[in-house]
Amino acid sequence: MPISFIKTEKQERLYKLVSELADKFNERAAKYDEAGEFPLLNFEELRTSGYTSLSIPKEHGGEEGLSLYDLVLLQERLAQGDGSTALSIGWHLGATMDLFDKKRWNDEKRLWYAKQVLQGALFNRAATEPQTGSPTRGGKPQTTAKKEGNKWILSGRKTFTTMAPVLDYIGVIASIDGTDQVGEFLVERTKPGVTIEETWDTISMRGTGSHDLVLSNVVLEEDDLVEMSTPELKVQPNGWLLHIPACYLGIAIAARNYAVTFANEYSPNSIIGPIKTIPNVARTVGEMEAELLQARHVLYSIADKWDRLDDRSQLGPELGLAKYIATNSAISVVDKAMRIVGARSLQKSNPLQRYYRDVRAGLHNPPMDDMTIAKLANLAFKEME
Ligand SMILES: Cc1cc2nc3c(=O)[nH]c(=O)nc-3n(C[C@H](O)[C@H](O)[C@H](O)COP(=O)(O)OP(=O)(O)OC[C@H]3O[C@@H](n4cnc5c(N)ncnc54)[C@H](O)[C@@H]3O)c2cc1C
Repeated sequence: MPISFIKTEKQERLYKLVSELADKFNERAAKYDEAGEFPLLNFEELRTSGYTSLSIPKEHGGEEGLSLYDLVLLQERLAQGDGSTALSIGWHLGATMDLFDKKRWNDEKRLWYAKQVLQGALFNRAATEPQTGSPTRGGKPQTTAKKEGNKWILSGRKTFTTMAPVLDYIGVIASIDGTDQVGEFLVERTKPGVTIEETWDTISMRGTGSHDLVLSNVVLEEDDLVEMSTPELKVQPNGWLLHIPACYLGIAIAARNYAVTFANEYSPNSIIGPIKTIPNVARTVGEMEAELLQARHVLYSIADKWDRLDDRSQLGPELGLAKYIATNSAISVVDKAMRIVGARSLQKSNPLQRYYRDVRAGLHNPPMDDMTIAKLANLAFKEME
């Protein structure tokens, strides 16, 4: 087992719950990955276990309420079982946490949303589009909302809509027709004109069901425009996005566990005893361990800083750093795990080849490395002005 970051009795209890789920998901992960199938059963179990409503604060009826540190701890463990499932539910849990933290939308919508989630509803945002790419780059959505009387008419196509097969509500980011403004529209999955096109066919995170969302003249109420994208909102740091590095480090831990067990047990007839006695293997294990621990300490300490600070406005660069270090370390750890195991790691039946494919996706989740590095450089220049 890797070094524990559990600090409280509550974390211990929730960790036990998530470990049971992760172990079950681990048994199914290869099957879902190979078929490129969405793991419906995992989501059923996440719902019935209460996991999907964990980030609803206690004052809104949630049983636990999660700190960012708790979220990172649980998501990292879940990803050890199945990276795709962890990333998917991470969007929902994180976005929910952020909604209540920042008191986004209006009070009425937020309270209504809490009730839905407590009854098992799942939410994610659809921001990415084929032409605008990652919304973090600042492109204007081609999905548009047009006002007709007191209704909104929404049309467009969103790509990468993770968890599409089980979403109940989707936060669609759209341009307001005839203006320069962009807003978030809350769309019920079952509304007429909302369809999912099953386009998700990647080599990585195959079980996330990140299909295209197609919106054809979807009629929405006035108050379904839940938030305008203001310059103030855009610069607010997003602590909740640490569910992403937590997921990729979880995948790396699974790879590390596999490789260390292998090195302990595999004993070719050219040596006496297992390969862990070979200096080069032990060295690679040590290097893997150092990288993993370093990344985990950065991630957990920044999550903890977020939880402790009242003014979080300056935390953006550090949050980006946590993601940058975690995702790149995760890629490197999986690579080292495969070197330890050798050519067997390439066999289709070996989980390492899935981890190898899955960790790559971290590079293409926000924030992207070049943006983090640019932010850190700006910070350094500003400090010396
Ligand atoms: C597994 C997975 C799950 C995801 N889930 C969701 C989800 O639930 N909801 C959602 O909305 N999105 C989701 N995404 C999408 C993700 O957030 C990105 O929007 C998506 O991966 C596209 O990013 P990109 O950098 O590849 O694309 P692009 O933005 O098209 O960029 C492609 C390349 O062009 C360059 N580039 C483009 N524009 C610029 C620029 N302005 N400045 C500098 N360089 C630029 C970059 O080098 C980049 O590598 C998911 C992605 C993955 C991989």
